Amino acid sequence: TDPTLAQDVVAGMRDIPDFPIHGVVFKDFTPILLDHELRDRIVADTVARQRGRVDVVAGIEARGFIIGAVIAHELGVGFVPVRKEGKLPSAVHSVSYALEYGTATLEIHQDAVSNGERVLVVDDVLATGGTLAATCELVESCGASVASIELVLEIGALEGRAKLAGYEVHSVVTI
Ligand code: AMP
Repeated sequence: TDPTLAQDVVAGMRDIPDFPIHGVVFKDFTPILLDHELRDRIVADTVARQRGRVDVVAGIEARGFIIGAVIAHELGVGFVPVRKEGKLPSAVHSVSYALEYGTATLEIHQDAVSNGERVLVVDDVLATGGTLAATCELVESCGASVASIELVLEIGALEGRAKLAGYEVHSVVTI
């Protein structure tokens, strides 16, 4: 265990007011990527929970690619990118979901994960949960199962967990 990890993650995140739109406080985790010691502690915390439990990591574009790939490397499993519409070159499954304004679409390669595989879904921040719920739907549309979801930071007030009922969700820190 790492007793000061939660407070160090909170201190390592940078708050950017009114990004990308007015009224949102963006939790910028790029300072954590730069701090290799803190980044490695976050990865170690996740890996200690997940080692031996998952067959593959799915990371969500774009920050989930970065942290997810490091976690996949440490777990010794494959990595699958979940991308925004139109970016993946082969046959995809697509899921569209509502944002505060308009909709977004995420995609996964149909052959990226196989029937029965246990998938760890990774992203940096859990906000309203729409992005993660869509990602879980994509994993399941391939016939695989979501073994667990790992976040660096969860914004508790936005109640993203309500959209993820039935899934195991771990956050390094909840604010
Ligand atoms: P949501 O679907 O609302 O849970 O949003 C999750 C996605 O948007 C994740 O990929 C987050 O990285 C990003 N995101 C949403 N809100 C924030 C925020 N306040 N700070 C940083 N990232 C955010």
